[in-house]
Amino acid sequence: MRSTTTDAPEIMSDSDFENVQLNDSLSEHGTSEFDDIPIQCVDCSQMFDWTAGEQAFYKAKQLENPPKRCKPCKIAKNRRLEAIEIARLTGKNT
Ligand SMILES: [Zn+2]
Repeated sequence: MRSTTTDAPEIMSDSDFENVQLNDSLSEHGTSEFDDIPIQCVDCSQMFDWTAGEQAFYKAKQLENPPKRCKPCKIAKNRRLEAIEIARLTGKNT
């Protein structure tokens, strides 16, 4: 029986989120209404800045929850999710 992927919305938003890095430089044209917000990473407990560009991205996406992980941990998490996804697609289990 084939199931839908409705159990994985976070994967979608996280992969979208990576694109915001490309937009960060554009926001330096000076019309930003946001300030950087310091957040503590849930994975490594380091403080990181939720940048104005990322906040604008979240607002545009109507995401209510701020990010929980710093960039390195988010990338690491995405790698884990990708590995899970690849394992699922290739039929291998870890
Ligand atoms: Zn972290």
